[in-house]
Amino acid sequence: MSRFWSPLVHALTPYVPGEQPRVADLVKLNTNESPFGPSPRVLEAIRAEAADTLRLYPDPEADALRRTLAAYHGVDTAQVFVGNGSDEVLAHVFAALLRHDRPLLFPDISYSFYPVYCGLFGIAHETVPLDADMRVRIADYRRPCGAIILTNPNAPTGIALDRHDIAVLLDDHPDQVVVIDEAYIDFGAETAIPLVATHPNLLVVHTMSKSRALAGLRVGYAIGDAGLIEALVRVKNSFNSYPLGRPAQAGAIAAVEDEAYFQQSRERVIESRTRMCDGLARLGFDILPSSANFVLVRHPEQSGTILAAALRERAILVRHFAKPRISEFLRITVGTDAQGDALLAALREILATG
Ligand code: PMP
Repeated sequence: MSRFWSPLVHALTPYVPGEQPRVADLVKLNTNESPFGPSPRVLEAIRAEAADTLRLYPDPEADALRRTLAAYHGVDTAQVFVGNGSDEVLAHVFAALLRHDRPLLFPDISYSFYPVYCGLFGIAHETVPLDADMRVRIADYRRPCGAIILTNPNAPTGIALDRHDIAVLLDDHPDQVVVIDEAYIDFGAETAIPLVATHPNLLVVHTMSKSRALAGLRVGYAIGDAGLIEALVRVKNSFNSYPLGRPAQAGAIAAVEDEAYFQQSRERVIESRTRMCDGLARLGFDILPSSANFVLVRHPEQSGTILAAALRERAILVRHFAKPRISEFLRITVGTDAQGDALLAALREILATG
């Protein structure tokens, strides 16, 4: 603390990201990164950008990347916004579109960055409880509000809504912006992007950090009506005109262009998830049905805090949230089969010794 802090800084409760320890041989299943590297074409594209041209600023509007994403998703370039990771895109979304007289709604269990942005930008919000099965119930959002943001599949539950549910939500709130954060959509859920054509109130946010294995490159994007995108551009150009460097723009384009690699790596993650869930079920865990690259699980006889600590002693990192409703759970990222096997062996040992 310092006497030079502004009142705003005093009042902030910042987001705490999962640990990134510099320890060799760690089984790192705590931050939902991809266990497989990015496409070799991405690495090649980034290497090509390590050149004299780095003395020049990058394209502030990232036009080539936005054109590539627009073609990939079947929308206009004016319907695409890119940023330095989807966290930055979300920050601009909160500042540009989610502050209204009535409160922003999101689930009580959801991405824990949302309340942090509300604090930073002075946005009133209300949380809507997930139902007893930890599912989002669209009918519960039929109440006065300024805007809505949902993660789909939800984090950290992994449970997905289908496109029809999102369409109902959009039709229920034609005068409010509805943001769908699809950070984990590629691991088995249905994207809402086709609904952008019929719903000017929909904004869909994606990241390249998960299914495209580029968490270290920091690329995220939003797709929606050109009017919504223009609001994001206005905020971006009031904050940082060049959020994506040359290597990031080139690498992201190559990632989108290597469709075969993308399909193969997301299928491998889905297969590893099935294998890990089978093993966890055999050990007696309750497992929420996940459409993401992580699973939220609970053991009936052992607390989440104890399990997370015991795994840590065995150099296996998972995420534990000391929060109401989920404090007994562990969120485990889907790794390689070998990582999954190491996790299962450690849990078997921990549970056997009580
Ligand atoms: N949305 C959700 C739901 C997430 O879990 C994350 C990752 N922590 C993000 C957005 C941000 O991802 P990134 O900034 O790496 O794109």
